[in-house]
Amino acid sequence: MTSKIPTVKLLSITPNAEALIEEAGCICYGSPPGRAQERIPIWIGMKHESMLEHASATFHITCSRVVSHELVRHRLASFSQRSQRYVDERMSDYYVPPELEEHALSNVPPEYREGLVSAIFRHTLDTAWACYRDLMAEGVPKQIARYVLPNAWLTQLIMTANFREWRHIIKLRASPRAQPEMQEVARAIRDILIAQAPSVFEDLQEN
Ligand SMILES: Cc1cc2nc3c(=O)[nH]c(=O)nc-3n(C[C@H](O)[C@H](O)[C@H](O)COP(=O)(O)OP(=O)(O)OC[C@H]3O[C@@H](n4cnc5c(N)ncnc54)[C@H](O)[C@@H]3O)c2cc1C
Repeated sequence: MTSKIPTVKLLSITPNAEALIEEAGCICYGSPPGRAQERIPIWIGMKHESMLEHASATFHITCSRVVSHELVRHRLASFSQRSQRYVDERMSDYYVPPELEEHALSNVPPEYREGLVSAIFRHTLDTAWACYRDLMAEGVPKQIARYVLPNAWLTQLIMTANFREWRHIIKLRASPRAQPEMQEVARAIRDILIAQAPSVFEDLQEN
């Protein structure tokens, strides 16, 4: 199993993004640029956000298919995702939610509970994996065999969005109401973007 999942890595970001955004905003107001850190949060506070669309960032994300299903709902972002039709899945490439152990089985004596729920979860996924390999050994193509693979299976995607859309995604997906694995992804993206462009993202710190 991959050690730390989900993972988020910044691949690319608009150079001098805050200066570019400020230049776009200054066109609107006919003012000379040079105060990006001060002005951008004010414009965001006024909901004047179109200038944020001139900067964008691209991330490499490794996560479960649960989370990738949710990410691709963001229609203003662009995606390239590892294909289960063309790429062989690898054994044990699945996500085990850390929250599993909070759900101990009430009909099992406490001394036997530790690790039991995770063990059941892993056993189910290993069985699905064995079925996938058996089908392929029988000559079933990957695109058909993959139907037996569960949502916990890992995937990789490249995701690009402009800063306005990243703000929207972070607000929705870093929230405590979002799927816990999704919160991890969104908070990692948020922290990287705060470091890269604080005037645009810092207000989302507590999101
Ligand atoms: C906590 C949570 C629970 C969810 N549960 C479910 C669920 O049970 N079932 C389900 O199907 N989905 C669910 N979703 C997904 C949700 O409905 C959205 O599809 C997803 O969050 C993408 O958000 P969005 O449409 O705002 O953003 P994006 O697609 O990223 O679009 C950004 C913004 O652009 C505008 N926009 C984009 N496209 C259009 C358009 N066609 N028309 C008008 N405006 C547009 C909107 O203002 C939108 O907010 C859930 C999301 C969250 C955060």
